[in-house]
Amino acid sequence: MDCLFCKIAHGEIPSTKVYEDEQILAFRDIAPQAPTHILVIPKEHIASVGEITEANSKLVAHIFEVIPAIAAREQLTNGYRVVSNCGADAGQTVHHLHFHILGGKVLNTEMA
Ligand code: AMP
Ligand code: ZN
Repeated sequence: MDCLFCKIAHGEIPSTKVYEDEQILAFRDIAPQAPTHILVIPKEHIASVGEITEANSKLVAHIFEVIPAIAAREQLTNGYRVVSNCGADAGQTVHHLHFHILGGKVLNTEMA
């Protein structure tokens, strides 16, 4: 499968890793939209939030257990935003589930 984030997860394309374990990887976004902009992905291919099921949701729970630790390490003590774009209307450009962690400044409050 020709998936950019699968290639990053398997080390075939380089990334600036900030966290890694057997199940998930976090790395810096190549085009940061905030001083801290990190993407957290499952190593297993899941296309988007729309493909989360009972069978893979433990992986998603694990991602959300790790996000606070990443935020603490990045010193996002004043807060941060976690975003996942799902599908065309949301502007999803990479079709491998990822959660953006954005912080390090006061973020725009518009949600849509
Ligand atoms: P989305 O628009 O939600 O699908 O987000 C995809 C994100 O992946 C964008 O913020 C891109 O800047 C980021 N991105 C694309 N290619 C890379 C890459 N090779 N390394 C790190 N981030 C990337
Ligand atoms: Zn993938």
